[in-house]
Amino acid sequence: MKIESIANAIVDFARSRYEQESIPLHRPVFEGNERQYLVECIDSNFVSSVGARVTEFEEQMAAFCGAEYAVATVNGTAALHTSLLVCGVERSTEVLSQALTFVATANAISYMGATPVFIDVDRDTLGMSPAALRTWLEGNSEMRGEARVNINTGARISACVPMHTFGLPIRVKAIAAVCDEYGIPLIEDAAESLGSFVGSKHTGTFGAAATLSFNGNKIITTGGGGMVLTNDPALAKRARHLTTTAKRAHPYEFFHDETGYNYRLPNVNAALGVAQMETLAKILEIKVEIAQGYKALCDDLNIGYLEGLEGTTPNYWLNGIELEDRESRDVILKLTNEAAVMTRPIWRLMTDLPMYADCQHDGLKNSRWLVNRVINVPSSVPESEFYRLQP
Ligand SMILES: *Cc1c(COP(=O)(O)O)cnc(C)c1O
Repeated sequence: MKIESIANAIVDFARSRYEQESIPLHRPVFEGNERQYLVECIDSNFVSSVGARVTEFEEQMAAFCGAEYAVATVNGTAALHTSLLVCGVERSTEVLSQALTFVATANAISYMGATPVFIDVDRDTLGMSPAALRTWLEGNSEMRGEARVNINTGARISACVPMHTFGLPIRVKAIAAVCDEYGIPLIEDAAESLGSFVGSKHTGTFGAAATLSFNGNKIITTGGGGMVLTNDPALAKRARHLTTTAKRAHPYEFFHDETGYNYRLPNVNAALGVAQMETLAKILEIKVEIAQGYKALCDDLNIGYLEGLEGTTPNYWLNGIELEDRESRDVILKLTNEAAVMTRPIWRLMTDLPMYADCQHDGLKNSRWLVNRVINVPSSVPESEFYRLQP
């Protein structure tokens, strides 16, 4: 099939589903109680770091994800930073992660004074490969006393942070098993995978902690926001303490027992979050229909569609299409964007950004292969669909 015909088919598909002139990659839907809860929040005067909506949002999220604890933060990057802090990542240690990710994952590691080491991904999940993780650890690490150490640098390996790319669940059970075997805490970056499950278990519940994001482009949004998930009461308690300036509870005294952070999610954002959570099930249902549409389109066009692994339920946050090579990728990106249908390549690999160019990595063969071929296509929930499903 000619590349121009593929571009036209993608444009036609998007135009048949979305009514906007200019079709974005992902826009939020506010079709529930968002306005009402925001007005109530403003009227209550509790718009900032104290208020009932924050706790309510945390409880909703913990219940939905099947995590014991959820701690809300100002954004997903702050949630990642907090998770690394509570899981014992220290200055001058190394954290295993992905080069194929949004920059926040690597940045949070840098905030700790730690260095990322980039492990390759699997082609079918776009997330960390458990086989590549094991291979790297076998060849490059050993136990010294209680610590797992990189034999090339002498640095302790303090955590492993894989990411569920575009909401496709990774081989997280296998990754958890490798992390266990090598004595490394697992922190899942589940920023993109709210509503994605492995079997019946939600992504973000397989390690010591995990993080979510509610940025404006994510599957639900609080404007800006994030969450730390964990089953460990001590980690949850410390996350809560550190994100609220490490202030000891007291009616009027200001006693802070360590250097904390002002990372608590404001009540006004949480009000939005509570309303969004009420509509999440519907959003996920419509997402499946959009994904099925793209899958059928790609089958017709004889091009690859990123379906995810058998036995997993992706949230289909962003649909991904796999093209023949970089040249056809570039033509399709150009033609679709010129037609005001937004499509996007994957992020630059972290090793292609100046601040991470010198980081250790394992060759990143699949990461490079994917970056040259995969694009994201418009994946929002159309408002008309939303109303169709209203009770
Ligand atoms: C969105 C995102 C984050 C967090 O982003 P914030 O904008 O800080 O909420 C982290 N990691 C990944 C992979 C993301 O996509």
